[in-house]
Amino acid sequence: MSESLTEKTPRMPVFFFGHGSPMNAVESNPFTHFLKEAMKDVPTPKAILVVSAHWMSDGVKVLRLEHPKTIHDFGGFPQELYQILYPAPGNLAMSDRAIKLLAKYHAEADTSWGLDHGTWTLLKYLYPKADVPVFQLSMSTKFKLKEHLEVAHELQALRDEGVLIIGSGNITHNLRLLNFEENPRPFVWAAEFDELIKQALLKRDVPTLLAQHPEQHRLWQMAHPTLEHYIPLLYCLGASQESDKVQFPYEDFQLGSLSMRSVKFG
Ligand code: ZN
Repeated sequence: MSESLTEKTPRMPVFFFGHGSPMNAVESNPFTHFLKEAMKDVPTPKAILVVSAHWMSDGVKVLRLEHPKTIHDFGGFPQELYQILYPAPGNLAMSDRAIKLLAKYHAEADTSWGLDHGTWTLLKYLYPKADVPVFQLSMSTKFKLKEHLEVAHELQALRDEGVLIIGSGNITHNLRLLNFEENPRPFVWAAEFDELIKQALLKRDVPTLLAQHPEQHRLWQMAHPTLEHYIPLLYCLGASQESDKVQFPYEDFQLGSLSMRSVKFG
């Protein structure tokens, strides 16, 4: 019997990564050192599905391209950042599989997007050879937080089919309050919110993770004036199961207001 017939596909973990500033793509710091080692115990995936803070769309879209382009979706950064390419292939069959799993949410194939910086600034460290196929799933602007979580439940099956699901955002993200001093301490509200989410993840406290406690709303406003960097975490939570161990392989802040906490489910 050939090896491919006897080989079982191990259930893949799910990761959430903070991505912070695009400058992480060219800097060498504790966070990028962490990323370089983060996949060393993870089986090589057949494909990587990324839910990035930087792709919101009208409806649910699944990137379906044989050769997704690298998108430099930011402005005012040094030229070297615009020269980085992440030439990973796509995997059309996996894109089709995701579209099928998300049929009740009217998911559609997309060929207009590519790999945005929420994806490639991480993957260039996680898989520097760019030899694992990558595709992205958009976050629909029509959904409430709870609906994002529900959509993500449908993705659980992909984990048994060799797909590594990655959410890319930040657990706190307030660009109006950045501290450019060297190694600033996190803002009090940022540390408080980050801890709130950490504890809620450990307890799988869904009401807290869906911002359903009015007394916490002021803290949410500080941590996320807009929610696009938080929502990818809900996709990771939704793709996980109660039986998954929740770990935090990296905890830190950048610029005082960006939690770089990473979460591993399973
Ligand atoms: Zn971002």
